[in-house]
Amino acid sequence: MEEKKSFLEQKIDLKSPNKNIVPITTSIGSDGKLSIGGCSIEELVKKYDSPLYILDEMTLRNSCRAYKLALEKYYPGNSMPIYASKANSSIFMSNLISSEGLGLDAVSEGELLTALKGGVPNAKIVFHGNNKSDKEIEFAVRNNIKVIVDNDYDLERLEKISNSFNCDLEIMIRFTPGIECHTHEYIRTGSFDSKFGFGIEYLNILFDRIRNTKHLKLKGLHAHIGSQIFELEPHKDLGEIMVNIISEAKKFGHDIQNLNVGGGLGIKYTEHDDPPSIDEWVKTVSTSVVKACKKQNLNLPTLMCEPGRSIVSTAGITIYKIGAFKEIPGIKTYLSVDGGMSDNPRPITYQSSYSACLVNNPLNINSKNKYTIAGKHCESGDVLFKEIELANCKTGDLICVFGTGAYNISMSSNYNRIPRPAALLVSEGEADIIQKRESPSDLLKYDVLPDRFIKQS
Ligand SMILES: *Cc1c(COP(=O)(O)O)cnc(C)c1O
Repeated sequence: MEEKKSFLEQKIDLKSPNKNIVPITTSIGSDGKLSIGGCSIEELVKKYDSPLYILDEMTLRNSCRAYKLALEKYYPGNSMPIYASKANSSIFMSNLISSEGLGLDAVSEGELLTALKGGVPNAKIVFHGNNKSDKEIEFAVRNNIKVIVDNDYDLERLEKISNSFNCDLEIMIRFTPGIECHTHEYIRTGSFDSKFGFGIEYLNILFDRIRNTKHLKLKGLHAHIGSQIFELEPHKDLGEIMVNIISEAKKFGHDIQNLNVGGGLGIKYTEHDDPPSIDEWVKTVSTSVVKACKKQNLNLPTLMCEPGRSIVSTAGITIYKIGAFKEIPGIKTYLSVDGGMSDNPRPITYQSSYSACLVNNPLNINSKNKYTIAGKHCESGDVLFKEIELANCKTGDLICVFGTGAYNISMSSNYNRIPRPAALLVSEGEADIIQKRESPSDLLKYDVLPDRFIKQS
């Protein structure tokens, strides 16, 4: 019988990290153990403990460059990739993103502050959100950060602010394209009844309304149709629809110079996934916009896109230590790890799948074992893998889960009062802390016992 190859033996695509399961610097040492970014994972855990988030710098930079290069190659006008910071927001990430020349999008004052502290230039930040607070809107306006107007409430407040400052304000608007795309169920559910943005049928009224404000200047159009998308057609359609809207807005005297098609390109979490490359995705979007502009006789707008997952997910791994085993004869064997739904809520929230291997036996040689990998939280649903083939393993062994760079640390919690893991950056044999490990006493910082309870005891 032919031996099945491990996903670790597949050829690595250096140019489009989202097409790999593992970071591009993944290797297996002469000792047969796993290393990333030139660092032995076993050594990192000895030094920094587990669970541990690790980001590979080269994979991250390659993803950023893939977007930049493809835009330069396929789009003849100006362009700017914007990193969707909700995927993984930190001072480090903001710094790296801006060092690669990308912009950044934020959805809260916290994400805005993190971007600014990380050195992202104000002019390259856009501010999203379907329910921005007054304080957040003011913070953005005062810092010259472009606000993406999501609804009438945003518009009213921006109009007021621009009038009170007596100065012009450039805005972008977000709309839900409602692409009639019957092969793409996720889009239909994701757009017609979406909580985000203006309905497409409302845009003419909106254009008229903005035209009648004193200081609001409509400069951009935004849409985001979904996430973990493997098809190219929806974004091809989107490009054309958006150009048609720019043309429509022109009739109202609006000169829309920025076209932001959102993010959504998927990544390869398991061997069943086959996403398009970053190059193919950008080519599709660019070609569609250029073609539509020609047809409508429009100048090319600045093309923006907002990748999150496809920038950071494949660069990230999580390391857990195996603790307890529970064998239920004839049914399954549970293997419990020292983290779970608090550091990765995606499996319990979205039934997401990942790939994993043992750090000391990554190629899973001649495995016949199936394990269910459980987290340590008090939920039966806290299961990271339902049935995974791993080589024989024992308490104390390390497990590496791949593709955890996006929507893991940024969605983490302290459920069961479990401190968040540390996060490291690895590159060329060096490892640096980018987020410190929380301690149980850190979690007490915001607890308050009212005075009268102290007196009682
Ligand atoms: C989440 C989001 C993105 C990024 O989506 P990915 O699927 O991670 O690429 C981009 N733009 C907006 C407005 C978003 O909400």
